[in-house]
Amino acid sequence: MKTTEARKLLGIGRDATPHAIKKAFRHLAMRWHPDRNPAPEAHEMFARLSAACDLLLEPFEQEVADDSPAANESSGTDRNQDIELDIEQICLGGKAEAVLETVVECEECAGRGHQEHGHSQLCTHCQGSGKVRRGKTLSRCADCDGRGYSRRIRCPQCLGSGRQVGRRILTVTVPPGLLPGDELRLEGEGHAPASGKGRPGDLRLRVQLRPHPLYTLDGSDIVLERPVSIFVLLGGGSISVPSPGGPRELDVEAGSANARELSIPDAGIPARNKRAAGKLRVRLVPVSPSSPTPVLIKLYRALQAEIAQANALPELAAWERRWLGDSKADRN
Ligand SMILES: [Zn+2]
Ligand SMILES: [Zn+2]
Repeated sequence: MKTTEARKLLGIGRDATPHAIKKAFRHLAMRWHPDRNPAPEAHEMFARLSAACDLLLEPFEQEVADDSPAANESSGTDRNQDIELDIEQICLGGKAEAVLETVVECEECAGRGHQEHGHSQLCTHCQGSGKVRRGKTLSRCADCDGRGYSRRIRCPQCLGSGRQVGRRILTVTVPPGLLPGDELRLEGEGHAPASGKGRPGDLRLRVQLRPHPLYTLDGSDIVLERPVSIFVLLGGGSISVPSPGGPRELDVEAGSANARELSIPDAGIPARNKRAAGKLRVRLVPVSPSSPTPVLIKLYRALQAEIAQANALPELAAWERRWLGDSKADRN
């Protein structure tokens, strides 16, 4: 297979990075893996995709390694990956798991792509017919040389590519104060050098925030909405506010019943390197009883009378004077 053909097969351009090549392969492999796709050409297509991926990755990794300053030491390339963290992990630090997907030698066939048997077996590639469909034409099965039976059987695990996608779980210590987009570098956890000798590259984990039902981030600030009774907004008081590090107390001053935003300094994402600590910003959303009891209604009416008496709503009084004249005086 030529590299142009391989690129065409994977649907990628000349400048595709190893990451993009693997991504394209994984995407197509989902569609063409014979476990998922019953079409007769799926086996063939999957094997071709695997071969295309290998072909494009190998020279690439070699090239990059040769260009790097430590080329004489033959070091592997860095590996870039995202790591999703909870807001609690971002605030408090701790352990997190990174799942590394890596193309490894097939365990079943030790990378050979086929298995040798003591006696002939039905060829898994052509199902014993000796022929495989290639486009519109039937051609002789290369696996069994057209006999339908062979002692050498294409590996059912890797379908002849000799490779499989392996997963490795790495436990990472996360320091507090990372923000989405920050990078966590793990020395020596990147790709092994193409030559097999020398030190591996680094693993660069780019932090992503796992969406949270309550908290969002604005820079280093943590933002949340908290419902609060209008009577707390009106009369003031102290309320508890959740935060990733545990509940905090917030003083609400007496004022209007409109929504307002208050903040607690240094209760956001903690400081890290030259970055200052963020705030915990609380958007207070007013709520009021939707079906008041008779006692509440009595209290509300007493409150209304007191508000009118004290002329505590001058804008309302001005509006009423303008549009209702003196008649409103009878009711208030
Ligand atoms: Zn295999
Ligand atoms: Zn065959």
